[in-house]
Amino acid sequence: MGNVLFSLAGKIALITGGNSGLGRAMALGFQAAGARVAVTGRKAEKNAAIAAELGPDALVCALDVRDEEAVAATVKQVVDRFGGIHILVNNAGNVSLQKALEMPKTAWDDVIETHLTGAFLCAQHAGRVMAAQGKGGKIINIGSMYSIFGPPNVLHYATAKTGMLGLTRGLATELAAHNIQVNAILPGWIETDLNRQRMRAALGEHARRKTPARRLGVPEDLVGAAIFLASPASDFVTGVALPVDGGYSVADRYWEGP
Ligand code: NDP
Repeated sequence: MGNVLFSLAGKIALITGGNSGLGRAMALGFQAAGARVAVTGRKAEKNAAIAAELGPDALVCALDVRDEEAVAATVKQVVDRFGGIHILVNNAGNVSLQKALEMPKTAWDDVIETHLTGAFLCAQHAGRVMAAQGKGGKIINIGSMYSIFGPPNVLHYATAKTGMLGLTRGLATELAAHNIQVNAILPGWIETDLNRQRMRAALGEHARRKTPARRLGVPEDLVGAAIFLASPASDFVTGVALPVDGGYSVADRYWEGP
């Protein structure tokens, strides 16, 4: 029973931003759970590295998720190669540090379009494929602790990540008629290319101390939750935002414990 509930055997998964960090861990985890995976990223070197890791059964596509034509072409490429799409993970993301009153519109647009518009476009194009298949589907949107907190110097990122919750709820309601479940994962603090410099400075120590689990996450910490939300185990779960954060979002203080 457990194996069937959490199996991704026979499933086809598309993971945006799958060439590094959290996306890479989810791609490898989905593959180990039986899925055929397609990952996307922009940088050729990173795409070549993940292609070598995933092997010839996987597809790696160069994609900028802000470009609707490219999103449509990538979804078509996945369908042409594997025959369909059952799972989409909207994971591609970027950030820059800017004070709100000094943030240029170009920086705002870049972050909002990558996270939020990119996720909308991928959900729309992959969702159409899932609806036409008539066999249900799963969409997982990667939010953040900044989906619920209001941190300094990343107003665009926090706005985009909060928007991911609205995207998740609205899609969950509309796509339920197609038996497509749409959920969000809110990762806690995990050192990746996105934040390595900051995590090795004071912010990393702050995050570690405020996390009840007493450690930062690693990308592999996300895999169990992602498999749950991608598998039949979550067929009656939709519209939720699941923190995978070692308790960071429920702790209101540093506490060294007994
Ligand atoms: P990485 O920098 O390792 O991964 C980001 C991924 O997104 C890369 O694969 C990158 O590929 C891709 N990407 C960036 N911009 C675009 C774009 N315009 N179009 C397509 N792909 C793009 O960081 P993480 O693994 O940490 O980030 C993954 C997700 O997790 C992001 O949404 C991030 O906000 C979220 N997150 C991360 C947390 C953490 O602590 N690390 C915490 C909470 C959320 P390429 O460089 O080739 O374009």
